[in-house]
Amino acid sequence: MAAGLATDPSRGLSEKEVTDRLREHGPNELESDEGPSAARIMIAQLTSPMILLLGAAAVLSAALGDIAEAAAIAVVIVLNAWIGFRQEYRAERAMASLQAMAVPQANLLRDGRPAQVETREIVPGDVVLLEAGSHVPADGRLLEAHTLSVDESVLTGESVAASKGAEPVAPDAPLAERTSMAYSGTSVAGGRGTLLVTATGRQAEFGRVADLLSGAESKETPLQRRLNNLVRGLAIAAGVIVAVVFGLGLLRGEELDTLLLTAVSLAVAAIPESLPAVVTITLALGAQRMLRRNALIRRLYAVETLGSVSTICSDKTGTLTQNRMTVVVLDMAGDRRELSDENGDAAIGAGELRANPTLRMLLAGGALCNDTGQAEDGELIGDPTETALVAVARRHGLDKRELESFLPRVGEVPFDSERKRMTTIHRLPEGERSIPPGLRQVFGAESLEAPGGSVAITKGALEGLLACCDSVDVGGEQVPIDEGLRERALAADEKLARNGVRVLGVAQRVWPKGGDVPEDTAIESGLTLLGLEGMIDPARTEAREAIATCREAGVRAVMITGDHPLTATAIARDLGLAGEDATALTGGQLEGLSDDELERAARDTRVYARVSPEDKIRIVEVLRREGEVVAMTGDGVNDAPALTQADIGVAMGITGTDVTKDAADMVLRDDNFATIVGAVREGRIVFDNIRKFIRNILSGNLAEVAVMVLGPLVGMPIPLLPLQILWLNLVTDGLPAMAFAVEPPESDVMKRPPTPRGESLLGADRGRALVTRGAALTVLVGVPAYMLWDSGDDAWQTVLFTSIAFAELAGSFAMRSERFSLARIGVFGNRMLVGAVALTVALQVLLVAVPAARDVMDLEPLAARHWLLVTGIALAYLAAIEADKALLRLRGRRPAARGAS
Ligand code: ADP
Ligand code: MG
Repeated sequence: MAAGLATDPSRGLSEKEVTDRLREHGPNELESDEGPSAARIMIAQLTSPMILLLGAAAVLSAALGDIAEAAAIAVVIVLNAWIGFRQEYRAERAMASLQAMAVPQANLLRDGRPAQVETREIVPGDVVLLEAGSHVPADGRLLEAHTLSVDESVLTGESVAASKGAEPVAPDAPLAERTSMAYSGTSVAGGRGTLLVTATGRQAEFGRVADLLSGAESKETPLQRRLNNLVRGLAIAAGVIVAVVFGLGLLRGEELDTLLLTAVSLAVAAIPESLPAVVTITLALGAQRMLRRNALIRRLYAVETLGSVSTICSDKTGTLTQNRMTVVVLDMAGDRRELSDENGDAAIGAGELRANPTLRMLLAGGALCNDTGQAEDGELIGDPTETALVAVARRHGLDKRELESFLPRVGEVPFDSERKRMTTIHRLPEGERSIPPGLRQVFGAESLEAPGGSVAITKGALEGLLACCDSVDVGGEQVPIDEGLRERALAADEKLARNGVRVLGVAQRVWPKGGDVPEDTAIESGLTLLGLEGMIDPARTEAREAIATCREAGVRAVMITGDHPLTATAIARDLGLAGEDATALTGGQLEGLSDDELERAARDTRVYARVSPEDKIRIVEVLRREGEVVAMTGDGVNDAPALTQADIGVAMGITGTDVTKDAADMVLRDDNFATIVGAVREGRIVFDNIRKFIRNILSGNLAEVAVMVLGPLVGMPIPLLPLQILWLNLVTDGLPAMAFAVEPPESDVMKRPPTPRGESLLGADRGRALVTRGAALTVLVGVPAYMLWDSGDDAWQTVLFTSIAFAELAGSFAMRSERFSLARIGVFGNRMLVGAVALTVALQVLLVAVPAARDVMDLEPLAARHWLLVTGIALAYLAAIEADKALLRLRGRRPAARGAS
């Protein structure tokens, strides 16, 4: 069959063949949906309820003969639509660039070596390497399958994974029974296999090309939902207020058309329309900043949730450690050999290997029971745990390829994180066979008389492996296992683990010729333990710093690993994640605990070891029940449910499987723990900024509405005209609002505890600051305006209008931080805000100074003393906010207040 596609299954296609076939068959993708176009965003903007309302107001004005006012409203509509469009467009573009980063990839065999290739570049004839957790990227026939099972529920609706084999089936078999085929869009649930691609893209018969981002639909985030509720609530309040103002106006005999327009503009004033869009941009920009720090956000709500993460559960290998494994010690039945690690000098000479078959077989076994690929130039490609074993064997003259030519692999039972071991089966030579030249030195012979049959080699975690052994190789002798030997092996394992060494046991079993060799986990019994290989994997230095940051930030860092409890605690201690006397809670102990007991234990446990993927789910559940906001990492296919359970599921970009990436909210492009902590920091910044922005906008709106309602009550005419209100809300609010999205972080962003789950959007004070500031603004602008009006100064309204604009602009500087004074964060700390404010001030001055504009807005010219007054009010408002903040700081420092906060 491979012949029909002209592929050598052991080498895959060459680059040239791929280019030709790509031209012939096209890329392996379905038409991608176009992102939202600029035109669509514009249309959405122009048909929003507010714009329609304003449009109606413009038409009303025109109908009543006030062409200038109608034109002015039109200008405001255009300005507002433009600002809104910019906001939406920026948000969409930020999202689109995020999606572009998440190109799905697959592992192929090309030009005789394994390669990571974008799924869209797969062509018929390609050889795809499938392992647990990968997506099947195209339709194809299985060349090889080892306990391979595929989740085909997307095609067949069958929730139990289908077992697959390489034996051909009748071509007319129904889809669910075609066990030798795998289809695009399905995913591997377990085992390993290779697939010869027969159809790609639209030709893929049943499949759909898996899209890594299919889960990244732009769903409403919880924050957005809460905001929409807030806006809705404000809209209702606005309705009531409008009715009151309208009623009062009618009673006072105001003209109906003025009143209608006032009602419309008051509604616009009270409802913070720009809020949802600015929140989306702030989230999307946050996601973009996270991406620059290697955290790819797959679901937008993750940005805000990250800000309140209180526990990070992390894998050990590769995330907290470098995943650069080096075998440093070999241990056989008490015979322990330390290897020099740094320079790669073999510590054991060929002579000794010749004389010690146990040692030789231990090294060879580690390399044979191993899925490492080897490029022509000798580069090792694969899981670092495995490449380390291949490397150490090679250093001792045992090249994996030569070993395999002598002892070809004929079967296997792949690794899974439940068993924590794997097995390969190799055919033994029969009769007089010559030893490959490269291996002769260590075997000390040119040929060998062999009985045939096969040998199964199993490697994995020692505790489990020992249970599969009935003997131990002691100096070349198979000695039946007894308590003493078992103790000896476990003690050696423990001693290494205590020093942070990762230990793998290697065992074998020879199956005589003609015997029926099982090809499932049943083969893992009656084994002979050869020995242990211990490897070191240095901690990541940046992880150590990140853990220190976590401690300051009140975020708990927890290690969850499949490794030995002592190895895990040694590394946790080295990283500063656990104290000197810390112990690990193991998967075995976990099973014995009830949920309540586990909940109690979880409070102090920093290291979980020898856990299975199911244990991870339990740990997440228990932590969440305790009120923690949990981020959880995972790489293997079985980790997906735990990632879904966690508040933030984190997948590994390098070592992670497609299925875990699908389940994740965030993907670490560098598999690095420090990246999670960096993302938490960004999340906090985003959440802070959204709150600042809400507080700023709402306190301004509050003051405007208060002035409008209170003015008539103290006998004044309508304080602000409709156009003036529209200007204040849509122009002077809109521009600075965008600047809050890029507000730099406060210096204590990672020095305070996380925001509790579900805390009010308005902040811990539930809107106290907002109301006091709105009240302060009302008094500061209202009283001078009243006095001017009372003294018969015609400019009173223009002063009111301008002072609200200036005060809000000045106030936005102080609102940049709730904790620090403006002097401390610096007036120019946010350049974009400085620019936006300067622009808005200029527009406002022009509006008042240019006679034509003044006429449209019904303004009076301002004298120097008016300008002074307006500036004074703005500065007074700024000072008032700063005083309020200082008071809060003072109170926060008093010990009595601390308990309450
Ligand atoms: P970690 O949390 O360190 O990533 P893993 O789940 O990868 O842990 O591994 C758990 C245990 O499984 C290891 O301690 C080791 O004993 C065993 N193991 C890991 N990788 C392999 C492998 N490729 N072959 C056999 N055993 C392995
Ligand atoms: Mg691992």
